[in-house]
Amino acid sequence: MNLDWTADDIEYRRELKAFLLEALGPDWKGYGHLSSADYKAASVAFCQKMAERGYLTQNWPREYGGAEASPWRAAILSEELSVYEGDPRGSQYMNVNWIGPAMMQFGSEAQKAFFLPKISAGEITFSQGFSEPEAGSDLASLRTQAVRDGDEYVVNGEKIWTSHTSIAEWLFLLVRTDPSERRSKGITVLLVPMNTPGLKVNKVAGFVGESAFSNPVFTDMRVPVANRLGAENAGWAVVRWALAFERIGVAHYRRAATLLDRTVREIEARGLMGDPAIQAKVGEAWEAVEAARLLFFRVVDLRAQGSPPTADSNLARVAGTRAYQIVAETAELALAEYGLEGAGRSRFTLTSGVASGTTEVQLDQIATRFLNLPRPAVGAE
Ligand SMILES: Cc1cc2nc3c(=O)[nH]c(=O)nc-3n(C[C@H](O)[C@H](O)[C@H](O)COP(=O)(O)OP(=O)(O)OC[C@H]3O[C@@H](n4cnc5c(N)ncnc54)[C@H](O)[C@@H]3O)c2cc1C
Repeated sequence: MNLDWTADDIEYRRELKAFLLEALGPDWKGYGHLSSADYKAASVAFCQKMAERGYLTQNWPREYGGAEASPWRAAILSEELSVYEGDPRGSQYMNVNWIGPAMMQFGSEAQKAFFLPKISAGEITFSQGFSEPEAGSDLASLRTQAVRDGDEYVVNGEKIWTSHTSIAEWLFLLVRTDPSERRSKGITVLLVPMNTPGLKVNKVAGFVGESAFSNPVFTDMRVPVANRLGAENAGWAVVRWALAFERIGVAHYRRAATLLDRTVREIEARGLMGDPAIQAKVGEAWEAVEAARLLFFRVVDLRAQGSPPTADSNLARVAGTRAYQIVAETAELALAEYGLEGAGRSRFTLTSGVASGTTEVQLDQIATRFLNLPRPAVGAE
């Protein structure tokens, strides 16, 4: 794998940085302080600017509003966006990273024609209805039920920890369509307008900000069969595809590197860098960031070669989470007595080991899919 950027890539990065600085300003503080309505307006406006410049879905096929740019261009975009706390695209990062690609792979012609132009123009927002109160890591045990009634499904059940519902127009929803199958074989994906009768969204207080999460509840909610993505009971293939893309959607190593830079600046400003224990920890953090970067690039390289998703994306995700953690430990070791223990932390230090699959679950996938270790028998000690 050649890790040198081409002259064109370097020029592209320069232009992109200038665009981001102009669009977001030098003191961009994320959307955390905005109301839902302002957050939605700001993130949609930003995505539309990206779309006008051709950045939003540049690595998509031309027929769906992209420019067929290489996955390396998308990686540069992820790196440069990661410098800004939070993602300036808001929930639309999901559209671009995995909802759109899943539609290209599994959608009907009508679905592609309806959704993909809207996504590539930055005009539509989704939320992701996967987790349930009794089905998080063990997602295949989900129970929200959809029963076929003519040309519609009647949906009953609930989801939890659903992000972005206050700004989304659509829900990417996993339901069980075959109650006799308790695991992955009986699952289907439905694309549901958020204003569908029978869908009620309760707020859930969360540790990453008030009302960041919600609890959508479905009571006899009717969804047209035409809104099904892929075949009935074949939703698990869609989910696996989607999650593999989601896991490296964010350049976590780059965000961790930004936090490490900030931490090192604080350490140097206080004349603490001569301490061998602090030096060793900074070295460890730098090494973790570099390892995460290389594992992320390995996934980008596989994509560039046309490989389908592999467990390499789990490895990259775990390494990114580990990088955040070691950077946070570095800040705590060196700066805690100055009350700056937060220097190495961002929201992602707390959430990246849980969102889109916990670290333990990623490690489980690496053990079985990457190292080919046997899966323990159910009930084994
Ligand atoms: C910021 C954030 C945003 C999120 N957004 C969404 C969203 O938009 N939509 C959505 O559907 N969900 C969302 N989630 C939920 C997330 O996907 C789940 O929290 C995650 O899958 C874990 O499920 P759980 O919370 O039920 O934990 P559990 O599955 O109950 O796990 C609890 C603990 O047990 C461990 N554990 C479980 N099974 C195993 C095992 N087999 N081996 C070893 N350890 C195990 C886990 O690692 C974890 O430490 C979000 C979560 C966060 C933090």
